[in-house]
Amino acid sequence: AGSASASTVRQVKLERESELRVEVANDTPLRLRLLTGTAEIFGTELPPEIWLNFPPRLKFAVFTWYGATIEMDGATELDYIADETPMVSYVNVHAILEGRRSRAKASSSNDYDSSQGPRVIVVGPTDSGKSTLSRMLLSWATKQGWKPTFVDLDIGQGSITIPGCIAATPIELPIDPVEGIPLDMPLVYFYGHTTPSNNVDLYKVLAKELARMLERQFTGNAESRAAGMVINTMGWIEGVGYELLLHAIDIFNANVILVLGQEKLWSMLKDVLKNKPNVDVVKLQKSGGVVSRNAKVRQKTRSYRIKEYFYGLVNDLSPHSNIANFSDLAVYRIGGGPQAPRSALPIGAEPAADPTRLVPVSINRDLLHVILAVSFAKEPDEIISSNVAGFIYITDVDIQRKKITYLGPSAGDLPSKYLIVGTLTWLET
Ligand code: ADP
Repeated sequence: AGSASASTVRQVKLERESELRVEVANDTPLRLRLLTGTAEIFGTELPPEIWLNFPPRLKFAVFTWYGATIEMDGATELDYIADETPMVSYVNVHAILEGRRSRAKASSSNDYDSSQGPRVIVVGPTDSGKSTLSRMLLSWATKQGWKPTFVDLDIGQGSITIPGCIAATPIELPIDPVEGIPLDMPLVYFYGHTTPSNNVDLYKVLAKELARMLERQFTGNAESRAAGMVINTMGWIEGVGYELLLHAIDIFNANVILVLGQEKLWSMLKDVLKNKPNVDVVKLQKSGGVVSRNAKVRQKTRSYRIKEYFYGLVNDLSPHSNIANFSDLAVYRIGGGPQAPRSALPIGAEPAADPTRLVPVSINRDLLHVILAVSFAKEPDEIISSNVAGFIYITDVDIQRKKITYLGPSAGDLPSKYLIVGTLTWLET
């Protein structure tokens, strides 16, 4: 099958424990298939002989444990074979996690601690391969029948939903190398900014809320408890970033800490956690295949991610344009504004900005091109602790008629009138 001219099709032979690293071209997709042997993309096995379509700009590696022949059709930005990879050390980590899962499953579910499977947190600087390692560990676990929970705390480049959120979802099947994480039932909290420094306290509150929800779900589900979690984090590891890592380790009760590509962070964490005998701090090598992304590329990736939410990965979804009256919606911002007007304070006192205060936002043209989250809250005071149903994008604000036009993933009424706004914007291109 295929209309591409035969001249662009080429075969690549991979020796055992080597990988083909590919950067798909910027504006043309790539087709690729496994011809002989076995191979996987970030932990998910390739089906034999079936052509897979990779969208522009995707970066990935086809790794083989025992040797394989790959066929590629189309131009790439870059592709090369690497025979030095950290995959053996990664799969060894997986084996240790499997041991912990089996022990958790075998133990009596009355014993809350020993029936808890591994809670893995992956930390390291930006572009150290954290998301990729998380993905491999999850996919390998599903292959052995587990349904681990993926927690993504990376508000900059999350892989569960749009940027500006922290989220969790059970992973039941190996993650599709093209489609990524399935978006069936994620538990999503909207932070609204792409850097934690905008509101560190809010970030902590939401992470804690997410941890609390998962803990509650685990209590009633021995299977997912035994399977454990894989938690991906942000690349911010200095100062407040480091403090937030410690916070995450603490609230999620992480017991396996995988440190990618940073000796210093590893030794700091090892030192801080030395009195916790049940916590393993493991140092892992970064893969040479990880592609670094500069600020501009990151920004672009965020924008593509939002586009993907509304339009699908390859324009396969059609979002709906809807119109609502101003009075049908209640928009809130969390934090930022001063708590009390200066006039209400004692002389000389500075108004303190309460980082988790709910501030009503009046609807005006400032909301144009803004991404809002639709809260599951039933009352305003539930907004901060509620997860969100989804997102809308404001395309027009008609002040005269008091009507707002927005793009949503589906037609019909919003599940709630409570909307949250942060600093997340998008320019549809
Ligand atoms: P981090 O989460 O630490 O920021 P990622 O795991 O997202 O880093 O990796 C950055 C980019 O590098 C991603 O686009 C990923 O697909 C790519 N990548 C990771 N490992 C490899 C590899 N071995 N070969 C090719 N590309 C890779």
